[in-house]
Amino acid sequence: MRKVITVLGSTGSIGTQTLDVAQKYGIKIHALSAHKNITLLKEQVDRHKPEYVVITDPLSWKSALDERIFTGSEKLLFGKEGLKQICSERVDMVVNALVGFSGLRSTLDIIGSGNDQAFANKESMVVFGEQIIAFAKKMNTSLIPVDSEHNAIFQCLQGEDKASVSEIILTASGGPFVDTDISRLADVTIEQTLAHPNWSMGRKITVDSATMMNKGLEVIEARYLFGIDPEKIKTVIHKESIIHSIVGFIDGSYKAQLSIPDMKLPIAYALFYPKRSKAAVKQLDFSALGALSFKKTDLMKYPCLRLAYESLYYENSMRVVLNAANEACVEAFLDSKIKYLDIPKYIEKMMSAHNDITINNYDDLLALDNEIHSKVSYATGGR
Ligand code: NDP
Ligand code: MG
Repeated sequence: MRKVITVLGSTGSIGTQTLDVAQKYGIKIHALSAHKNITLLKEQVDRHKPEYVVITDPLSWKSALDERIFTGSEKLLFGKEGLKQICSERVDMVVNALVGFSGLRSTLDIIGSGNDQAFANKESMVVFGEQIIAFAKKMNTSLIPVDSEHNAIFQCLQGEDKASVSEIILTASGGPFVDTDISRLADVTIEQTLAHPNWSMGRKITVDSATMMNKGLEVIEARYLFGIDPEKIKTVIHKESIIHSIVGFIDGSYKAQLSIPDMKLPIAYALFYPKRSKAAVKQLDFSALGALSFKKTDLMKYPCLRLAYESLYYENSMRVVLNAANEACVEAFLDSKIKYLDIPKYIEKMMSAHNDITINNYDDLLALDNEIHSKVSYATGGR
């Protein structure tokens, strides 16, 4: 078990669950970061007594100072510099639970400082996968996947030769519209989109689950995390979210990882690897489980998944465009500026207009990310 950890994005869905897991097993928290939710951050600081606390949003930082919210022995740091510092403080593991492109700088800083990483921020892997894996190898640091599908695959691959893998099958719940006919998607509301049947998650990933862009990002994440060809990565709708993913082998065998759907299991697995935690979640009761179902993923109904697959046949700048356009569209959808079906339309438009190149440095990635955010915002009636 890792005894001392840092949690980036501690106020989010993965962040709060990580702190619950840490408390359950007596893991010490060295540093925490939050963006805007300083009320929850304060509660976390009182409970976990970290040495460092980072607030990344400038206005929230100002109110924390003005209102003298943090008056304990913790050291209060600000913004990107603060995040950079806590990424490089030596700990047993840094949990990167930041959301979106904003997590990439930290993914690189954690690796650069030689810390091991519990890896939740899939968007980093989408835009810079090949380079992140090469960097982690060079620095000899581990990236243990927290995303439930990748954690499942990671578990199934233990003791296996990667050359024997014939396919990887990512399971997908299908989100809230799994049983909605394609003809009725035009008018779905924000509330319906945020009502995920099986998982309680942050707003961005919940919208991504409804459009299945989440599965698309996960296909890309799997491609780089496990070094598997895109042709070998498949998806299947499995509504019950009991099987978290499946690995097929050349002899015709399949291995799958099953559990109740609860992110505390993959989080605890990452923190205990190569051992297992005791009772991270309740055991499954197979006799009460009933039938498990599987259904083909319909790329007509889920064009975001098709776009993500397509992006794998281009250089990484195309995946920056896919990711940034998706982030901007999700924001525009949640601000009621566009409709659900506009999300893939704008992403496809941005991708079609883009000539892909290889980008090997962070500043150029950030510039392209900003450019696409601005273009989508402008097109959808924003800034
Ligand atoms: P949330 O939106 O719930 O939390 C995001 C965290 O990041 C919060 O602590 C938030 O701070 C902080 N944050 C937001 N914007 C910024 C920014 N610009 N700079 C620095 N910090 C920021 O997200 P989730 O926990 O749902 O997801 C986190 C990551 O894990 C994502 O990449 C997601 O895809 C992945 N993941 C999540 C799963 C889940 O079950 N939630 C499952 C599998 C993967 P604040 O709240 O204080 O503003
Ligand atoms: Mg997942």
